[in-house]
Amino acid sequence: MARYTGPACRLCRRAGEKLFLKGERCYTPRCAVEKRRRPPGDTGQRRRRLSEWGTQLREKQKARQSYGVLERQFRGYFDTARKMPGVTGANLLQLLESRLDNVVYRLGFAGARQQARQWVLHGHFTVNDRKVSIPSYRVKPGQVVGWKESSKAKGLFVEASRQLGQRPVPDWLSLDKNKMVGSVSRLPESRDIDTLVDTRLIVEHYSR
Ligand code: SF4
Repeated sequence: MARYTGPACRLCRRAGEKLFLKGERCYTPRCAVEKRRRPPGDTGQRRRRLSEWGTQLREKQKARQSYGVLERQFRGYFDTARKMPGVTGANLLQLLESRLDNVVYRLGFAGARQQARQWVLHGHFTVNDRKVSIPSYRVKPGQVVGWKESSKAKGLFVEASRQLGQRPVPDWLSLDKNKMVGSVSRLPESRDIDTLVDTRLIVEHYSR
């Protein structure tokens, strides 16, 4: 399945809640979910009642779209999570949170995951001083994420410096604002993750 390239706000309106896909705009009254609660293309006043399967599917889509992951990749994460010790749902979120693009977003270097993904793909970030341009790269405890030296002269670095500190950095990461580097202190746990995803529904969806 190809990556969705349509309007990001449409995904939120379809999900019926904010997925925070557009950075600063998501925190303002200009957010499409704030303005219109109705799903896109629906002229009726009420949302259709979903079946059990539909609810599970929508939760999976919500998680996939929030992290900007394709269906096949997401299924891969789920299969890996199931083989790991512990609770599958918590493992799944841990794997998604450990992606390099998500870490860049969580540190506040980018306003949205999609922007973080673009900047990682364009090679603006390093992990332990080595350039990494793979958004799905799994960052591990002890590793340090920073900016490539040549990228610091670019406008996007100035934009990132301006945005820094607008969102709280989660406890499992630590940020040095002056040096614009962040490190992974430990693996994220469910209590650290503010993503409003019911992983129980996702596990049920894949267990059918
Ligand atoms: Fe979603 Fe952000 Fe658009 Fe609001 S502004 S609908 S949260 S992407």
